[in-house]
Amino acid sequence: MTSIGFIGLGVMGAPMAANLVTAGFDVIGYNRSSGKVRQLVERGGRAAATVAEAVRGVDIVVTMLPDSPDVEAVVLGDGGVLANAAPGTLLIDASTIRPEVSRTIADAARARGLRALDAPVSGGEAGAIEGTLSVMVGGDAADFAAAQPVLNAVGSTVVHVGPAGAGQTVKAANQLIVAGNIELLAEALVFLSAHGVDLESAVEVLGGGLAGSTVIQRKAPGMLNRRFAPGFRVDLHHKDLGIVLDAARAAGVAVPLASHVADLVTSLRAQGGGPLDHSALLLQVERLSGRTNELDEEGEGA
Ligand code: NAD
Repeated sequence: MTSIGFIGLGVMGAPMAANLVTAGFDVIGYNRSSGKVRQLVERGGRAAATVAEAVRGVDIVVTMLPDSPDVEAVVLGDGGVLANAAPGTLLIDASTIRPEVSRTIADAARARGLRALDAPVSGGEAGAIEGTLSVMVGGDAADFAAAQPVLNAVGSTVVHVGPAGAGQTVKAANQLIVAGNIELLAEALVFLSAHGVDLESAVEVLGGGLAGSTVIQRKAPGMLNRRFAPGFRVDLHHKDLGIVLDAARAAGVAVPLASHVADLVTSLRAQGGGPLDHSALLLQVERLSGRTNELDEEGEGA
């Protein structure tokens, strides 16, 4: 049985690890807060008390951590993945991080005789639970082939997009498209509400036309019900738009709408929205239009 050390059992990591157990892998989980590890054990996984314990002797390591410094610490740090996993181990980092950090990790892994892929995902918590994520993979083709059984257990669209770091570049583009879509959906809802249009009917018909999107399908119901529990935290989208803007600047590419949405996300976060789902951009648009008096503020973060 192929063994997998899984590090980072949060909103995304927990259901991904559970799906790997269901697919027949021997999954050994580690998370900074131990309650998450207990939940994995209840789903049939095994518990590790440290990163070292999770990765020693396993065939594959999967990391699903918030940000670049977290992945650097867990993979490159003392007591980390590279210091404890055996040569030949395949590291699959599913976190969304800076492309250059993924390249550094791939180089460091190779120097120690390990193999590394960046494999960020899209599809949200629902996609992670359903095992229908889109997985964009950067790294060597042979390593991608070796990772297929694992990636196919968590995703339904699994594509090798290029060398190390390329998966993260595609994910940055994904985050740009998603943020822009949510902002436009939020603006449309406030606009429709101001005109007294029934929002559920409007969303139904918009979803069937050219404006239809996965963002409408997955995010509009929560926005209409004013449920902003994450999901995907505003803090994480703020991080991702920083990656987009830095990478665009490095390539000499102008991304005016990305800059605009990034500012709106920064503002939402500065007003305490960081822990909410990114669909809380709706609250930001309402504030901009002076329509906060219509808010059911108790809905925030519920
Ligand atoms: P999360 O904060 O819910 O989960 C991260 C987990 O990592 C937490 O359980 C935390 O305790 C753990 N952790 C943090 N540092 C650690 C460390 N040093 N050692 C061990 N565990 C540690 O975040 P998430 O929503 O699951 O997102 C994880 C990654 O996936 C992020 O990069 C995010 O951008 C990306 N992502 C998230 C979504 C989404 O919808 N939530 C979708 C696609 C991609």
